[in-house]
Amino acid sequence: MNTVQQTQRPSSAELDAADPLAAQRDAFYTPDGGQLAAYLDGNSLGRPLKATAQNLATFVEDAWGSRLIRGWDEQWMDEPTTVGDRIGEVTLGAAAGQVTIGDSTSVMLYKLIRAAVDSQPGRDEIVVDRDNFPTDRFIIEGIAAEKGATIRWVASNPASGVRTTDLEGLLGERTAVVVLSHVAYRSGFLADAQAITAMVKDAGALMLWDLCHSVGSVPLELDAWGVDLAVGCTYKYLNGGPGSPAFAYVNASRQDTLQQPIWGWMGADNPFGMTDSYTPAQGIRRFITGTPPVLAMQPLKDMVELIAAVGMEAVREKSVKLTEHAVALAEEMLVPLGADIVSPRNTAERGSHITVDHPLFGDVTRKLWEQGVIPDFRPPHGLRIGLSPLSTGYEELELGITAIRDVLAELL
Ligand SMILES: *Cc1c(COP(=O)(O)O)cnc(C)c1O
Repeated sequence: MNTVQQTQRPSSAELDAADPLAAQRDAFYTPDGGQLAAYLDGNSLGRPLKATAQNLATFVEDAWGSRLIRGWDEQWMDEPTTVGDRIGEVTLGAAAGQVTIGDSTSVMLYKLIRAAVDSQPGRDEIVVDRDNFPTDRFIIEGIAAEKGATIRWVASNPASGVRTTDLEGLLGERTAVVVLSHVAYRSGFLADAQAITAMVKDAGALMLWDLCHSVGSVPLELDAWGVDLAVGCTYKYLNGGPGSPAFAYVNASRQDTLQQPIWGWMGADNPFGMTDSYTPAQGIRRFITGTPPVLAMQPLKDMVELIAAVGMEAVREKSVKLTEHAVALAEEMLVPLGADIVSPRNTAERGSHITVDHPLFGDVTRKLWEQGVIPDFRPPHGLRIGLSPLSTGYEELELGITAIRDVLAELL
């Protein structure tokens, strides 16, 4: 019966031929000379668009080189929020005025979580899962130490992620804020953001979603779900380039009551008033601290426009097909060699990557990188296969998994 199922499954070539987004792959820069056989790590660092090479050169010459300091008045001061609004509209389901580009993800997490705790005297507990990304946990440890707050750790299944049932008994009148990743960085589990947000709000607490692995790969409806706070990366599925700045979403209903802890002139009411003391700006700008990273926020604009052109629904549809194909190929080629698929099998509970475990995958990854086959490795045993929907093809994926199998078989 298995054989019947396998022959009925379309081949990688057939999937590529039927892919309505196949043409978008040409929009990405590809190095000459086969240095990039299969890129399976767009969830860590997205590939650059060809347009970005051109647009960055134009920015240096026209915007920076020619307008110089005048650029701040003409455009750059507003860019954190104009780019933020566009990210909000295209990818987050967020109305204007609630998203800004800020600092790194880590610093934005600090600012919003601190603000959330500070705004609710008497609520001194922060809820986070043990499997969350290290920086999220570390930032919370630091805030708990600073504020004398208590961390309530969620123990969820590491091969999936946090469900509403895992939160039962942890939320109450002392809960200040709950911090979870919408797509788990290790397993790829896609949390039920709507149900969890509703549950957290019922407890009177604030909900913060880390969207690093979902923005640009999974459709989001932050306004409709009633989310209070969110932070996300732009160098993963938004292809903003190494170290491109994070964005923050603060629901309009929360902006006036939240005061972020790093008071800088760019988040002040009148930045060029050179006033004696700090008064926060109205609205989303108060979550900014210093001079916005204007140069570093240029490349992500190109990707957001490409996503706008095809639509998030089409992106998600391809992402689902890619991860289904990855699971099928891994079952066929890697599981027989002793590997375990440690990601959800139900596509509705999966983001855009899968993780496969094997004790030798650290060594395997090093050898693969030399061949231009690039997944990533997360200790202790996890090989992560990231499938950035607009830049990844099905044959590219099969080539990658075949190479993983071959290198693993050699080492066994
Ligand atoms: C990638 C990622 C980060 C990265 O934080 P930086 O401050 O940008 O280094 C944080 N959280 C999650 C869940 C991530 O996936």
